[in-house]
Amino acid sequence: MQLSKTDPQIYKLIKDEEKRQRDVLEMIPSENYTSRAVMEAMATVLTNKYSEGYPKKRYYQGNRVIDEVESLAIARAQKLFGVPYVNVQPHSGSPANLAVYVALCQPLRDKIMGLSLAFGGHLTHGQPQSATGRFFKSTLYELGEDGRLDFDAIEKQAIREKPKIIVCGFTAYPRTVNFRQFAQIADKVGAYLLADISHITGLIVAGAHPSPVPYVHIITTTTHKTLRGPRGAMIMVTARGLKKDPDLGKKIDSAVIPGLQGGPHDNQTAAIAVALKEAAAPAFVTYGKQIVKNAKTLASSLLDFGFDLVSGGTDNHLILIDLRNKGVNGSIAAIALEVANIVVNKNGVPFDTQPPFYPSGIRLGTPAITTRGMKEPQMKKVAGWINRVIEEVKKEKMPTEKEARNEFMKDFKSRVYKNKNHLKIATEVKSLTARFPVP
Ligand SMILES: *Cc1c(COP(=O)(O)O)cnc(C)c1O
Repeated sequence: MQLSKTDPQIYKLIKDEEKRQRDVLEMIPSENYTSRAVMEAMATVLTNKYSEGYPKKRYYQGNRVIDEVESLAIARAQKLFGVPYVNVQPHSGSPANLAVYVALCQPLRDKIMGLSLAFGGHLTHGQPQSATGRFFKSTLYELGEDGRLDFDAIEKQAIREKPKIIVCGFTAYPRTVNFRQFAQIADKVGAYLLADISHITGLIVAGAHPSPVPYVHIITTTTHKTLRGPRGAMIMVTARGLKKDPDLGKKIDSAVIPGLQGGPHDNQTAAIAVALKEAAAPAFVTYGKQIVKNAKTLASSLLDFGFDLVSGGTDNHLILIDLRNKGVNGSIAAIALEVANIVVNKNGVPFDTQPPFYPSGIRLGTPAITTRGMKEPQMKKVAGWINRVIEEVKKEKMPTEKEARNEFMKDFKSRVYKNKNHLKIATEVKSLTARFPVP
């Protein structure tokens, strides 16, 4: 180990984070534990190379080996998803989405239509705070009163707004996405249909969520969420996409480079290839299905404790709890749960009466704890702990949003950090996580 000698400070911090990830229940639905093999591929000499361009069409010499690495990653993705075209170079999910818009939209003229962030869409689906909403026109759709996609409203909006691209695929939507219905709307208005499957890629590969491939034109995905690879992203074009626009693949390639990026991260490309091989193995099907079984068990246990779940439950890997009926704020709940070694994130709920900084809900998911081998009995335990934490937090007077932004919060937090109930649960959690090793 060189690092421990040359930079003991960073080495120690990495070790501390390793311990934190081992001790806690990591329940942020966009996170996961990659395999050792993926990490090995990341930490290699491939990080030294410059490879601007694409296999066999590079601007730099010395890419004989890199060409093979990238071609292998592409071939594995094509096979796994059943698509004719793949770009594995986007540095992460946000640049992948931007590349699609750069490929297809005229700045300040063409319109992107995505789900509003407040309802579970991603920043890069045309939010005004994001470059995707500043450089392009956008129109944002919302969910229905029941917390589900309202296809009648989406269709009306698409007809009225005439978007160039409709984006489906979300960051905080606990239900199955009906890609066929989106396709009918996109076809009606002549829009490109982009499925951003970042959150559910692993479920799709495992057959635990329907695939968008027969219906959409373009797919973007991160590689580090349920797919369990390194941080990174891919853009795929389906046969349907090439039929609509035979140049779609070429347009996307040039949007990635020279449009947005210079050199690809070749170590990341190799690690993506490794993750794709792992995802093609039969064990991954079991994994993906278990993620959903775990989420459903967790959801029904939470319902038994009187929690209000957005849309009433889950079909996938994630659960959105609306905490208003418990009189607890989402930010406060997330802080208290972390003290108890349960790591989730605060999240807005549909039609939230609170601002995004201080929202009414929390979002939690099962991908990472399922990677550790946890199953239904553990989910019931987790629900019990969450309930005990929330029941304890309920006794506190909730800070107002203004208080949550100022000094008051320090006192409040220090009280939460010392709470005996939370700390006792933290110990119980640690004794459970100790039995489920990280890869
Ligand atoms: C996570 C996510 C992204 C962005 O990925 P980054 O790698 O964080 O840039 C984009 N879209 C969706 C739907 C996501 O869930």
